[in-house]
Amino acid sequence: MPIDNRFLTYIAPLTELLLPCEPIETILENSRIVVIATKKPGAILTCPCCGKVGSPRGLAQPRLIRHLDFENMPVWVNVTFPRVYCPEHGHVVAKQNFCKPRCRISKAFEDLLLEMICGTDQTEMELKKQFQLKGQALARIVDRARQQLEKSTVDGFQTVDKEMKD
Ligand SMILES: [Zn+2]
Repeated sequence: MPIDNRFLTYIAPLTELLLPCEPIETILENSRIVVIATKKPGAILTCPCCGKVGSPRGLAQPRLIRHLDFENMPVWVNVTFPRVYCPEHGHVVAKQNFCKPRCRISKAFEDLLLEMICGTDQTEMELKKQFQLKGQALARIVDRARQQLEKSTVDGFQTVDKEMKD
């Protein structure tokens, strides 16, 4: 796909978010964008449990993670996270902040969905359609949004919580 200034603006924060990986290729396929990312050469790899620097131990299985749209086009990141060996915690996937373990959406995308669920009148169906989401991903986020609202002790949030339960 043509790499123009708008896309460079999009990918700059993604490069930070993906550490210790980096985007290496961008593919336009079936009206979605797939960014391929793998370990950044020389990146320091740490244990996700204790934060200590571990010794590199190859790569984990690639994962396809949904990230923030680029101009109404869904963006998926096919990321191969590196693995490390920690004397205390064994062989583990190196610490990264892009997405939660076993989660198929990026933290940034999850935050956006949470914001829209809590802050707008859009229904689950409308959000699903807008972001071309399939399966249970959105349902799980809606559940988490409700839990967050329930935990909150702010009066305004409690009102919203009651409304959402009805
Ligand atoms: Zn450790």
